[in-house]
Amino acid sequence: AQTVCAPLPVLGGDVTVPLVTGGEVAYAALDYAASAPALQRVWDDVAAYAPYYGSVHRGAGYLSQLSTDLFENARRTVAGFLGCREDDQVVFTRSTTDSLNLLARALPAGCQVFVFETEHHASLLPWQDAEVTYLDAPRTPRQAVETLERALADRDPYGPALVCVTGASNVTGELWPVRELAAAAHAHGARIVLDAAQLAPHHPVSVTELDVDWIAFSGHKLYAPFGSGVLAGRADWLVAAEPYLAGGGASRRVTRRTDGGVDVEWHESAARHEAGSPNVIGAYSIASACKALTEAGWEGLVARERHLITKVREGLAEVPEVRVLSLFGDDAPRVGVLSFVVEGWNSSHFAAALSAEYGIGVRDGLFCAHPLVRTLLGSDPETQGECGAPEAAPGEKSLNAIRVSFGAGTPDEHVDRFVAAVR
Ligand code: PMP
Repeated sequence: AQTVCAPLPVLGGDVTVPLVTGGEVAYAALDYAASAPALQRVWDDVAAYAPYYGSVHRGAGYLSQLSTDLFENARRTVAGFLGCREDDQVVFTRSTTDSLNLLARALPAGCQVFVFETEHHASLLPWQDAEVTYLDAPRTPRQAVETLERALADRDPYGPALVCVTGASNVTGELWPVRELAAAAHAHGARIVLDAAQLAPHHPVSVTELDVDWIAFSGHKLYAPFGSGVLAGRADWLVAAEPYLAGGGASRRVTRRTDGGVDVEWHESAARHEAGSPNVIGAYSIASACKALTEAGWEGLVARERHLITKVREGLAEVPEVRVLSLFGDDAPRVGVLSFVVEGWNSSHFAAALSAEYGIGVRDGLFCAHPLVRTLLGSDPETQGECGAPEAAPGEKSLNAIRVSFGAGTPDEHVDRFVAAVR
């Protein structure tokens, strides 16, 4: 048996919130899939560095040089954390959404994109300017691979192609067969980008082992605060593309032409897509989180999460009105993310009651994955509201769901309280 590690200390661990029934209770943050609490260790690292931060890549002063070093070291730490190949680039972005939009801008001409309809909108929508094939929701991991293989077999084998796939669903928490999908993509001459927003906080991910071409994730889901994310992977498409943003930092040399215009030579390093003053504290905090997770040890973290998932699964299984949402079946491996509906309850009211009566923070809605949630609920797109919490008429099917999610900072008491509250 693997040793279950203790919860890692996080910010907000001792915040109390008022209950409508009177009194206060320690807040149970069970919405890690939206934003995980920052690790105390990350906060401490940032606080230690904050008095010294300065402009990156610009100044000759000591603090500017220190910040430049920390920023470039953060890149190396992230590359190591992701098991990057030697010639991969690590670009600091604002988020997973930003990373995937950046890659979408770097697609070669004529690139075909293949994406499952089950993706989060961040990985479903950025490709609209390319020729996109949306693949139907598979019902087993095997079916996912077969669906992709069929679609790729029909494509123009000489043109560039990209597959975009999530590592772990932000709705069901289920793990996708990334290695097999990557092998299928490569066998058909396509490349693959992994949306690891929900996978990286819960599992070790290695670009090399999974054999994916790019990987994207967000700092705020990986126990780092602030608006920073990462796109890491193959340099060639990134270097061939126009810079994501035009400006200082991305440009190596700018000259005035004799005809009055301006010529620009852009950097060929990751700086090409990082114009403007970079978010050095954001990058530093991601690197700190990567180190903290590695030092805590994935084996213990994964074992702890499995222990919590089992508690939640077994607890919910005892409530006959609860239906857990799943594409791949109840026993499919998942990370600490789980959505469900409760018969006879409006999901928004249910989530509001968990907050007001028990001090538990979960999420309700369609989780920015509208096609997937509709498939799982078997509901009619025409009757849906927009992102948020549409009302179900009394006695009708739920139009939205409740999501509970947790991770490295979650104590047993939070999931025990959640299960008792649902009961
Ligand atoms: N992909 C997945 C699977 C997600 O869960 C999320 C966030 N919910 C995103 C992408 C987008 O992340 P961000 O909002 O940080 O850009």
